[in-house]
Amino acid sequence: MSGIYIHIPFCKQACIYCDFHFSTTLKNKAALLTCINKELELRKEELTHEPIQSIYFGGGTPSICTKAELAVLLETINKNYAVDPSCEITLEANPDDLTKVKIDELKSIGINRLSIGVQSFFEEDLVWMHRAHSVKDATACIDHALQGGISNISVDLIFATPLLTDDKLEKNIKILTQLAIPHLSCYNLTIEEKTSLHHLVKLKKVVPVLDEVAVRQFYFIRNHLQQQGYEHYEISNYAKPGSYSKHNTSYWQRKKYLGVGPSAHSYTGYSRSWNIRNNETYIRSLTQNKLPSEMETLTMNNRFNEVLLTGLRTQWGVNLTELKQEFQTQYTSFQNQIIPLVNEAKLIVTEDKLTISPSFLIMADRIASELFII
Ligand code: SF4
Repeated sequence: MSGIYIHIPFCKQACIYCDFHFSTTLKNKAALLTCINKELELRKEELTHEPIQSIYFGGGTPSICTKAELAVLLETINKNYAVDPSCEITLEANPDDLTKVKIDELKSIGINRLSIGVQSFFEEDLVWMHRAHSVKDATACIDHALQGGISNISVDLIFATPLLTDDKLEKNIKILTQLAIPHLSCYNLTIEEKTSLHHLVKLKKVVPVLDEVAVRQFYFIRNHLQQQGYEHYEISNYAKPGSYSKHNTSYWQRKKYLGVGPSAHSYTGYSRSWNIRNNETYIRSLTQNKLPSEMETLTMNNRFNEVLLTGLRTQWGVNLTELKQEFQTQYTSFQNQIIPLVNEAKLIVTEDKLTISPSFLIMADRIASELFII
């Protein structure tokens, strides 16, 4: 299984916590989309004969694109790649873009899954985050999507924000579970460098929440959603049975994917590459038929560490038999390294599966990094 990721680097306004690549001026939008089309054509050999099971429009805000712009990109993909008939085609969307008409348009061109950036159902939280939408937009767009026949929906929520009390978090979760949204991504607010939030924290205008609050909210979400029949299948992701995101799952299971557009990453299992994070340079380069990317070949140690990092974040964990077969050299020292972590009940070994114990889940990345082979 392979996937295609298309990065649409435009947003109406900048959310204070965001460190993705995007521009709030749309002046280069047409030229940039033309170049993404060209990149899709130039790189078709990279996925020859691979059935494409997931196409993902991420960003930025892909819902900023018109029906015609998205249709051209999908047409290019269909013409140049072996798209599986059951392909999951996801569009990341902001609520203010998802009118009834827009939902019908998206459905008509083949979008069959929406990932909606709701973040909170409280106006003051949205204002604090500098989101472009209102609570009314959020509830209306979910309604439009369900009525319009796109029921495969994922909603993003953020927790551990300064204004989010436990009561408000409970209400946010209740609204979504009552609507039976099949997939939820719940992210712990992180303070990334070069964001407005980072600047505000440095100026002491924002006080980050205490770790204990973040931990409490993480487990509140987990317990509540599990009681409502959701599987906690990755540290930030919950799904009703069978509603896993094919796109995200392929990342965590290290499947091959092609990423096009500025800042997009690609992965072959043996190498990674990434496009330049600048719209003007991206356009200039593609206009001259040059790919604006850099590539890194992954060493056995890199690949081994990735298996641990991605696997331990998921409910499937790491398959020890496969790990031993693929990484015989690394496995010998790894075997000794896991003993203390198993004794401290941070890691659990069940038959041939290694997982993080639920009470240490929130520390999955740190625990995985303790096992890295350098
Ligand atoms: S809409 Fe999404 S990509 Fe754009 S600034 Fe906000 S969080 Fe970042």
